[in-house]
Amino acid sequence: MHYQNSLLELIGNTPLVRLKRVAAGLPATVLAKVEYLNPGGSVKDRIAVRMVEAAEADGRLRPGGTIIEPTSGNTGVGLAIVAQEKGYRCLFTCPDKVAADKIRVLRAYGATVVICPATVPVDDPRSYRSVAARLERETQGAVLLDQYSHPENPRSHYLGTGPELWRQTDGRITHFVAGIGTGGTISGAGAYLKKVSHGRVRIIGADPEGSIYSDPEGPVRPYLLEGVGQPQLPRSYDPTVPDEIIRVSDHEAITMTRRLAREEALLTGGSCGMAAVAALRVAERLTPDDLVVVLLPDSGRGYLAKIFDDQWVARLGLFDDPADTGPRLREL
Ligand code: PMP
Repeated sequence: MHYQNSLLELIGNTPLVRLKRVAAGLPATVLAKVEYLNPGGSVKDRIAVRMVEAAEADGRLRPGGTIIEPTSGNTGVGLAIVAQEKGYRCLFTCPDKVAADKIRVLRAYGATVVICPATVPVDDPRSYRSVAARLERETQGAVLLDQYSHPENPRSHYLGTGPELWRQTDGRITHFVAGIGTGGTISGAGAYLKKVSHGRVRIIGADPEGSIYSDPEGPVRPYLLEGVGQPQLPRSYDPTVPDEIIRVSDHEAITMTRRLAREEALLTGGSCGMAAVAALRVAERLTPDDLVVVLLPDSGRGYLAKIFDDQWVARLGLFDDPADTGPRLREL
C-alpha cells in the first residue's frame, strides 16, 4: 500500500511544466512551478504548516486554540487544513475585494471569515490587518501568526521552494521570477538560489501597477490583482534579494491568466498571469542557454466569477488586447 497519513505530507515538491504556447518563439526556455498542486491549492500551504508549528513550539498555540490571520484567501486555506489536522479553530479577516468564491472556499473548510474594507489605509482600525489584531486581543487562546512579519514565511521558501527549484533544474536555473505579496516567496527562495549558485541566478519580482515594490516613490493606487503588491514594505520582504522588479498592469496580467488557461491548460489566479508576463519579458532578452522558472502561486478556482467571467472582463474594458482573441471574446 502507498498512502499518506496526513494531507500535510503532500505539501511542497510541486512539479515544473514548460510553457510551450505563451513562450513560443522566445530564445530561453520558460518553466512554471505549479503551486496549485499543493493540497490547499496554493503556495501558501508551505508557510501555513511552518507558522503553526512555530507557534506550537513556542507555546503560544495550545490545544483548542484559535488561529487568527489577515488573509486574502490562500494562507487561510493552508491554515484551515493545518488547523483541522491539529484541532484548532480558524478566524480570518479578508479585504472586501477578495473574490467571493475564495471566501466561500475558506468557509467550506470550516473557518470563520470577517470581511473588511480594502480601500482604507493599513493602520485604519477598519482595515483587515487592524481587525485581525483586535480579534486576537479579544479572543481567548487566540494567536495571530501574521505572515507579513513571520520569519517562517520566507524561511519556508528558503528551506523548501528554493532547494526544490535547484534540484529540479539540476542547478541549471538562471532566472527566477515570482510575484511579490508578503515577499516571502521571492525573499526566501531567491536568497537560497543566490547562495547556492554563488550569485549567478537572477531574481526578478513582478508587481502590480499601483503597488510599492516596483515604485517606492510613486502613488499607491488600487488594482484588481489579488494577493500581490503592497501599500508599504512588510518585514517578510527582503529588498536586497530581487535584482529587478517588473511592473505589470491588471490588463496584461488578466489577459495572460486567461491565455494560460486556454493555451497551456493551466487554470491559475491573476497573480500567475502577472508573474508569467514578467517571465516572458525576461525570457525575450535572454539566450537558449538560459532557463527561466516562474512560480505560479494559486489556481483559478477562486476567480471563476471574475477573471474567467467574460462579462466581468468586458465591464472593466479589458477586452481590447489583440493578444486576447479567443473565439468567445470576439463573439462579445
Ligand atoms: N499570489 C497570490 C494569489 C497570493 O495569495 C500570494 C500571497 N499573498 C502571492 C502571489 C505572493 O506570495 P508572497 O506572499 O510569498 O510574496
